[in-house]
Amino acid sequence: MEGACSCGNITFDWQPVLPLATPRACQCDYCQRQQAAYVSETQTGFSVYIRRRDSHRIVTHGTGSAQFHECTSCDMLVFVSSLIDGKCYGVINTRCLKADGIGVDYFDTAVAVSFAGEQLSIRLARRKKNWCKPVTVIHSE
Ligand SMILES: [Zn+2]
Ligand SMILES: [Zn+2]
Repeated sequence: MEGACSCGNITFDWQPVLPLATPRACQCDYCQRQQAAYVSETQTGFSVYIRRRDSHRIVTHGTGSAQFHECTSCDMLVFVSSLIDGKCYGVINTRCLKADGIGVDYFDTAVAVSFAGEQLSIRLARRKKNWCKPVTVIHSE
């Protein structure tokens, strides 16, 4: 399964084994502003290809334990990564998935989730259990 930000600067390739899980729409201010909803599948990794390094911005929030990867050319959040025990875990913003092969209905099924107040150790354990791994980022310049 492929995806990209709307200008194509950041693309990714992901091969989930199971039918896609329900997208999770985080209710924090940042994710709501991005209208982001996330999907992942444990035991699968994804590769990210970044064409223009200067249009790739990484932002962090709160505990700083996750990196939010944005394309600044088209202002889209593409994926989130988290380094845990030396391994890179990640989730994909469903807004960047190509709709063909999923069905547009998929995007309407997002469920609201909130992780506010969650302890860092619990947060990291949850990511280890649910997020994709490994996430590989490849720069083409
Ligand atoms: Zn872009
Ligand atoms: Zn959020």
